[in-house]
Amino acid sequence: MLNLYNSKSLGVAALVCSGCDAQIPADELLRFSCPNRGIGDDDHVLRVQLSPDEIRDGWPGDSPADGANPFIRYRKLSYGYLQAMRLGMADSEYVAVVRELADAIAQFDKPMQCTELSYCDALGCWIKNETENISGSHKARHLIGTAIDMEVATRLGGGSDAPLAIASCGNAALAAAVVAKAAGRQLQVFVPSNANPAVVARLESLGATRIVCEMRSSKNLVTKMASCPF
Ligand SMILES: [Zn+2]
Repeated sequence: MLNLYNSKSLGVAALVCSGCDAQIPADELLRFSCPNRGIGDDDHVLRVQLSPDEIRDGWPGDSPADGANPFIRYRKLSYGYLQAMRLGMADSEYVAVVRELADAIAQFDKPMQCTELSYCDALGCWIKNETENISGSHKARHLIGTAIDMEVATRLGGGSDAPLAIASCGNAALAAAVVAKAAGRQLQVFVPSNANPAVVARLESLGATRIVCEMRSSKNLVTKMASCPF
């Protein structure tokens, strides 16, 4: 087993803003946005910064000893995992958090697994089949990481049970509803009045609270929305 507490990698992993270079303190749990967001025209999107040692030591190689679950297999490349280890969580407890969430999701959706990557001769490119992912799109992949981080924060004493919210009427909302249900968290979904009835029905069947937002035509509003990273 690799030791991430060695002197080469301790404290190197960081969350850094791509827009203003602000660095999030390593002991700050559940930080999902730059403290300088809204200032200037910068796109304040946080990125994970790992050292070459952390990438080399965390890469699982070709023999996945931890099975097909990507959130276990690649956990040592996750900022949330490295942060949890720094703050005292055991590797086995982190793995248990992931397995509990995976088991809960598998009760009513697809398993948490690596999706197929194959070469398509007709198109001349590699294709990642994310329709086999949870909720049928890649959106769940991002939200599962967030759900894991929230549970880790709770176990480390820095969590929150505040309701979750998302503005979407498509794959992101469906994925959020699945992950929130499995994590036992309330979710509010803000949808437009013309949202697809099938999507709305699925959201409600998953226990999400639907909040209808009337569409507004505003050039400024559209411009601001278009600058969002999602
Ligand atoms: Zn920033």
